[in-house]
Amino acid sequence: MCTEILGVHEDAPQDEIKRAYLILAKRYHPDVNNSKDAKTKFTQINEAYATLGDEKRRQTYDITGYSANEQDNISEQWTTSGFANFDPMERMKQQHESERKFEQVLKEFDDFFNMEKNSDSASKVKGRDINLVMEIELESACNGCTKDIQYEKCIKCEYCSGTGLEPKSDPIECVDCSGKGDTMLGFKCKNCEGTGLYVKKCSVCSGVCYGKSTNVERVQVPKGVFDGVVLRLKEKGHVTKNGSPGDVLISLKVLPSPYFTRQGSDLYLNKKVTVT
Ligand SMILES: [Zn+2]
Ligand SMILES: [Zn+2]
Repeated sequence: MCTEILGVHEDAPQDEIKRAYLILAKRYHPDVNNSKDAKTKFTQINEAYATLGDEKRRQTYDITGYSANEQDNISEQWTTSGFANFDPMERMKQQHESERKFEQVLKEFDDFFNMEKNSDSASKVKGRDINLVMEIELESACNGCTKDIQYEKCIKCEYCSGTGLEPKSDPIECVDCSGKGDTMLGFKCKNCEGTGLYVKKCSVCSGVCYGKSTNVERVQVPKGVFDGVVLRLKEKGHVTKNGSPGDVLISLKVLPSPYFTRQGSDLYLNKKVTVT
C-alpha cells in the first residue's frame, strides 16, 4: 500500500505526501543508510511517491490499486498493441527521478522545509476535490431540477475536534527535541509542533485529525444543461488540516429518454400518430 509506505492518510493533500516522502527518502537513502533493507525501502518509498505525488497517477491508483510502475507496464503493453498514447520521454524522466541522488534529496528537503518554515501560507493547502457523476433524466436536463447526491468525504475528527490530540491528556516533555521545540538543524520539531511539550495523539484518528463521513448535498441543476456539464459545489470536498476544504465537481450524465428527443433547447415528444 503506497499510503502505508509513506505513512500518510489516504486523503492526505499533496504537501503532506511530499513532506512524508522527503523525510523518509532522506532517512533511507542507500548512500547514508547502511542497514540491509535500506535499498529496498528506498525503492518502495520512491515508487509510492511516484504514485501518490502525481494527481493523475494517484487517481488511477485509487481506482485500480496499480502503482506508478504497474501503470507504466500496462500502458506499455497497450502501446505495443497500439491502444494507448505512451510517451517514452515521460517514462525516462520518471525512471530518472526514482534514482535521485542523495544530494538532490537533501537539497529538495532543505528547500521544502525552509519554505514551510518561512511562510505560514505554504502550509495552507486546499483540501482535495471530489469528482462525482450524476445521472439525470432528459426532461430534468431541459427543465432544471433539484437532486440529492451522496458521497464519502474526509471530515475533521469529532473526537479531538481536529486537533489530533487525545482530549484531556496531560502534556509531557517532548522526547524528540528534549523539550526545546527545535531540532538540531534549527527546524521546528514536528513531534511537538515547536512547543516542547508532547500530548498523546488522538486515539480515534491517530493524530491525523481526519475521519470519514457520508455527506448528502442538495444540487440545483439549472435549466437547459447538456451531457458532460460540470457543476461545482464550493468547499464541499475533503477537509484539510490548515487550508479551506476542496470542492465537489459533479459531472452530469443526461440519460436518453424513450419519450422525448432533444434538439438544442427544445424537447420533442415521440408519439405514434395514427392517421385514419
Ligand atoms: Zn482525532
Ligand atoms: Zn519536540
